[in-house]
Amino acid sequence: MIWARTWHILARMGLTDAFARIAHAPPTGAPGVGFDYRRSDQPAEGFRFKLVEMPYGCIRFHRAAFLDVFVSHLPPGIAYFGKRLATYSRGGDGETALLFSDGSTATCDVLIGADGIKSTVRAQMYAEAAEAAGDFTLMRHVEPVWTGTMAYRGLIRAQDVPRNEDGMAHRAFAAPMMYCGKSKHVVSYSIAQGDIVNVVTFASQPEKHGYPFNGEWVVDCEQQELLDCYAGWEPEVFTPFQCIDKPTRWAIHHLRPLPFYHRNGVVLMGDAAHAMSPHQGAGAGQAIEDAFVLGNLLAEAPRDQVLRYLGAYEAVRLPAANGVLTGSYESGMMYEFDSEYGDKYETLGPAIAAQWAWIDQVPLDEELASALRLARQPARSSRL
Ligand SMILES: Cc1cc2nc3c(=O)[nH]c(=O)nc-3n(C[C@H](O)[C@H](O)[C@H](O)COP(=O)(O)OP(=O)(O)OC[C@H]3O[C@@H](n4cnc5c(N)ncnc54)[C@H](O)[C@@H]3O)c2cc1C
Repeated sequence: MIWARTWHILARMGLTDAFARIAHAPPTGAPGVGFDYRRSDQPAEGFRFKLVEMPYGCIRFHRAAFLDVFVSHLPPGIAYFGKRLATYSRGGDGETALLFSDGSTATCDVLIGADGIKSTVRAQMYAEAAEAAGDFTLMRHVEPVWTGTMAYRGLIRAQDVPRNEDGMAHRAFAAPMMYCGKSKHVVSYSIAQGDIVNVVTFASQPEKHGYPFNGEWVVDCEQQELLDCYAGWEPEVFTPFQCIDKPTRWAIHHLRPLPFYHRNGVVLMGDAAHAMSPHQGAGAGQAIEDAFVLGNLLAEAPRDQVLRYLGAYEAVRLPAANGVLTGSYESGMMYEFDSEYGDKYETLGPAIAAQWAWIDQVPLDEELASALRLARQPARSSRL
């Protein structure tokens, strides 16, 4: 899922027609449902305790189709696939030398580490910074942290999704559903023009946040495990699980908010910079926003002032993305009645709605304008 901010970026790239064709429905600027929050961890029919709406609502895609649109619009000859960066080194001439695991090498002016939550670039950047500063607390940012949450994921073909007990079509076809219960929640919504229902369920042990997680992050598991985990939930949530033959189980990790995104011509973006829990469906959108700001900055950066432009990127994007990272984790706690609001719906509902403020707090134009303004200023510090 993406939100209005990301949609506006796709519009600037001239890609909205292509993305509208693969969305669950062509997005409009009219208010739409972000999420319909419902209490569901009881066998009796649940009830809505909050409806969050916003312009464009929640725009949904099948992830593979979403990526295909980007790939099909790449100019030929600029992407090399199947490469694994092993290490990099900065030369005295300002160039960065790259060594890949297949033994091949390359050089670049700017290395952008967009290599995901287990980023090789972040690991090296933070290890070198820790060594240089003699501050080994920086090493806390190399490894991702387990949030204490496990997620089960599955896709269900629309025709297999059972109707509700009242004979009506399942609610997930109408709007993204957030079914909430104590220390658990279930997200359900349609994608691929209504042909598929995406189900992601979460089960948390908040006290284990930060515990080491031993084992594979993503594994196949038995349907029974999923059914056992949500036994006793309202039928609208529980019954469709019987259509998920082979769920996958994910250990949800995130990063401790990073104190910097760039050093010496090497810069982080996307999950490498701010991998977050998925409770606001925002990680990929934040990555696209990084790319939007960084791309526009680099497009105008004079070659001898690139470092200042990277500093401007960091100054604008780091607080924004770290805010979403933290907010996303807090939101998960709220959905599972594990926040300070517990299940006091009259205060919890507004608190959940307030968590979505980042979507229109700083308009995209303003964000980019302030990055460009910062970059064009004469350097005020050695970092910029
Ligand atoms: C359950 C779940 C649901 C989610 N739902 C949403 C959602 O609805 N909306 C949303 O916006 N976000 C969502 N996210 C978050 C989203 O998936 C990530 O934020 C997004 O994929 C980050 O993109 P990225 O390109 O930064 O990293 P990635 O998608 O992880 O891509 C990193 C790439 O770098 C490559 N790579 C890694 N190491 C190297 C190396 N050494 N050399 C070269 N290449 C390398 C990898 O192979 C990979 O292709 C969800 C996450 C989860 C876990």
